[in-house]
Amino acid sequence: MAYPFKFCPNCSKPIEIGGKKMIECRNCDFNFYFSPASTNALILVNKNGEVLLTKRKFEPQKGYWDLPGGFVGLGETVEQSLIREIKEELDLTLKDFTYFGSYTSIYPCRGIDYQTLCHTYVANYHGDKITVGDDVDEYVFFPKEKIPFDKLSFQDIKDSLKDFIG
Ligand SMILES: [Zn+2]
Repeated sequence: MAYPFKFCPNCSKPIEIGGKKMIECRNCDFNFYFSPASTNALILVNKNGEVLLTKRKFEPQKGYWDLPGGFVGLGETVEQSLIREIKEELDLTLKDFTYFGSYTSIYPCRGIDYQTLCHTYVANYHGDKITVGDDVDEYVFFPKEKIPFDKLSFQDIKDSLKDFIG
C-alpha cells in the first residue's frame, strides 16, 4: 500500500506508518486512522435485461468499462451521492433504486492507492436514449453474457457484476 505521508502533520517530524492502518507519531502522540473512501455504483438494467456500462474518459483506467457512480462527498449520504453522480454522468433523475451490496477495491490516483468501499445499487431503466456527462466517453447496454470482464475498470466493479449475474 503506497501511502505518501513521511512527516507528522502536527509536529513535522519524520513518522512511520503504524501497521498500515494509521499514522502514529511517537514524537507528539499525533494519531490518524486510515479509512476506506466510500464510493457508489449503479447497476442500471434496461427492459431487455441488459446492464449499462460507461467507458472511462480519464485516468485511472481510461478506456475501461465502468459502472456509473463515483466518490461519496464530505457530508453526503451514499444515496445522495449516487443520485448526484447519476445526474452528472447520465443526466437521469434516479428515484427507485435498491441496495445490492458492498465491495472493496483499490483506486490508484497520482501515486496514491486509495482503498475504496463501494456501495452498489440496482435500478431499472425504461427510457430510450441517455446523454452522458463530461467524464464519460460513451455508454453501452451489455447483455449479461457479453459483459467485458477483462476490460472492467476496478475489482469492486468486477465483483459486483459477477454477483449480479450469478
Ligand atoms: Zn508528531
